[in-house]
Amino acid sequence: MARKLAAGNWKMNGTTAALAEVAALTAAIEAETCEVLLCPPATLISRMADMAQGSGLMIGGQTCHPNGSGAHTGDISAAMLTDAGASHVILGHSERRADHGETDEDVAAQTAAATGEGLIAIVCVGETEAERDAGVTLNVVSTQLAGSVPEGTDLAKLVIAYEPVWAIGTGRTPTLEQIAEVHDHMRAELTERFGQGAHNIPLLYGGSVKQSNAAEIFAVSNVDGALVGGASLKAADFSGIVSALSGA
Ligand code: PEP
Repeated sequence: MARKLAAGNWKMNGTTAALAEVAALTAAIEAETCEVLLCPPATLISRMADMAQGSGLMIGGQTCHPNGSGAHTGDISAAMLTDAGASHVILGHSERRADHGETDEDVAAQTAAATGEGLIAIVCVGETEAERDAGVTLNVVSTQLAGSVPEGTDLAKLVIAYEPVWAIGTGRTPTLEQIAEVHDHMRAELTERFGQGAHNIPLLYGGSVKQSNAAEIFAVSNVDGALVGGASLKAADFSGIVSALSGA
């Protein structure tokens, strides 16, 4: 059985004032049994990690460079994330793939760097609306999975997030059957490649998850949690999703 994880992606949102949400969240999740993670902008990681110490909350980054250091203006390395107090990092989010041209090869290199530094890599995959309409969703997900997760990855440091691009920030979600189809497919592909240990890899669904749809999504086969954008910004909203996962 994979462990359950509720992960929040704050994207490019949040300054010092938003730290009040972290205080509220740590209090709200005290009795919850699932893992809870927030991935704020890099500027907040260190302060959030300090605040989260001793609570059930973990802190992560939103990307990392494959290299450990060097002339890469504006980038952040895996070692810098761990040094700031991060335990996880989101990699290959569709916004990184679209805005920064990140390829599966880039994501694989980032994954190797992150896991090599001891971070847990949350590798994102998912089809565009045109790809779903063309009936190639499973092919796209297979290609991204195969290309973004390098050989020899330590499975204990791997999480996969299925995020249909058309469901991110749109309020639209796939049907529960469509989510099950992709998650069952990912589990089968990972098991074929990595063996029975792949049953322990948490498979997250992401794309317009909110308190009102969380419970039904968490009841879907092979869904072990969620990667949440907009609804992770407010402790009151995110803690409802965390509760739904703990109770699933
Ligand atoms: C995301 O950014 O990964 C995401 C799923 O966003 P939202 O929950 O806002 O759709």
